[in-house]
Amino acid sequence: MKFGGSCLKNVDGLRQLVELTSAEKECTIVVSAVSGVTDTIMQTITGRLSEKKIASLTSTLRERHVAILSEASSGLLGSGEKDVDGLLKNLERLLYGIYYTGELTPRMRALVLSIGERLSARLVSSVLESHGIRSKVFESDSLGIVTNSNYESATADLPQTKRIAGKKILAALKSGRVPVVTGFFGRDPRGHVTLLGRNGTDYSASVVAYAVGARRLIIWKDVDGFLTADPSIVPQAKLIDEISYDEAAELSYFGAEVLHPKAVDPARLGNIGLRIMNIANRSSKGTLITSSKRETTGVVKSVSCLKDLGILRVYVTGGGYTSGTISSISGHLGMEGVNIISATTSQTCISFLLGIEDLDRSAEALSKLISVGLDKVEKERNVALLCAVGEGLGRTRGIAAKVFGAVSDVGVNIGMMSAGASTVAYHFTVSMKDLQTAARSVHRVFFGE
Ligand code: ASP
Ligand code: MG
Repeated sequence: MKFGGSCLKNVDGLRQLVELTSAEKECTIVVSAVSGVTDTIMQTITGRLSEKKIASLTSTLRERHVAILSEASSGLLGSGEKDVDGLLKNLERLLYGIYYTGELTPRMRALVLSIGERLSARLVSSVLESHGIRSKVFESDSLGIVTNSNYESATADLPQTKRIAGKKILAALKSGRVPVVTGFFGRDPRGHVTLLGRNGTDYSASVVAYAVGARRLIIWKDVDGFLTADPSIVPQAKLIDEISYDEAAELSYFGAEVLHPKAVDPARLGNIGLRIMNIANRSSKGTLITSSKRETTGVVKSVSCLKDLGILRVYVTGGGYTSGTISSISGHLGMEGVNIISATTSQTCISFLLGIEDLDRSAEALSKLISVGLDKVEKERNVALLCAVGEGLGRTRGIAAKVFGAVSDVGVNIGMMSAGASTVAYHFTVSMKDLQTAARSVHRVFFGE
């Protein structure tokens, strides 16, 4: 079971955690930092440090964790308080290191930001113990969640992690203890802490589930699960009870914030049934994600969206019949660290869909190629992406007409589109101002009012 930061921020959430854990015959827990903690640490180290700021951060974190701990364990603090102090002492030393040297490398940042999860794991373990549940804290670096050396957004080495971490967790389970594993980070082959990306604990949980050969993974959140649309854009959005791994991957990559996009892969590889559930609404069954490619009668299961994008149009004469054009252009973008969300290509122009924050940088990088065969680069801002997802969509007649018809019915123009790249998704761009109108219209066609 994975518990997000919002499940740990107060006594209610922790009470549920204890209840849910004692109801399972055997389970492993993976935790995020208490909500807001990663952001608070991040803000402190991003600005200019001072002795005052360091003291204020450590005391804020202490107060927050000790208050939750003492309330959730009815005063039976156990070793929890001492553990919290030990970790905060470490944090303080690291922060002084940064303050004195004025240096903050990505590796150091990863180490500092991992403290949030180390604190919450101690907190959870201590609360479990105070309720008579034996537990053991595992910190993901010493545990052996092995990753590559991308310090900000690392990917796990699943076979190595299974061999090293899986074994230790299974041993703890065998001895009757509930393993409590820190989410969000791992370590590279040389032992340095790596982060798995913001909100990466969903991914950690999936990696851990794979490592122990779990059959089920429950991700506890403060929302019910995957919905048929983003409820802030389409208020009629309804809960989806079941989706496939591919559908979940497309939806989370293209805007559904309920699950981290990287969490799908380990679950798929381990054939683990992944369920998203709401800790504040346990009567809802949430969304189950499995390998079953169930098609619904309407085929489309959800309409997701991404905001704040831009399009980069790169004009190349003869681009369509010259080999290596796309690879050279995308290679340049890759070197700039730009993530390409989608790309479409024609004889004269290659269009890239990018995050708005990457647009100017990308245009700049490519302008260097103008002397060597590239004609011009154009930028378009205020772009949003809509994505219709459903198993069977690539095989069923009339779905594209229905999706695109719904957009045209409300007088909205489609910019770029991609159909066929994925067999379970169509995605296309509209201008930001038209996003809500277009999303509601597509949703209405498939799900009614
Ligand atoms: N605490 C980390 C973050 O806020 C990881 C997570 O919450 O999953 O990004
Ligand atoms: Mg978080």
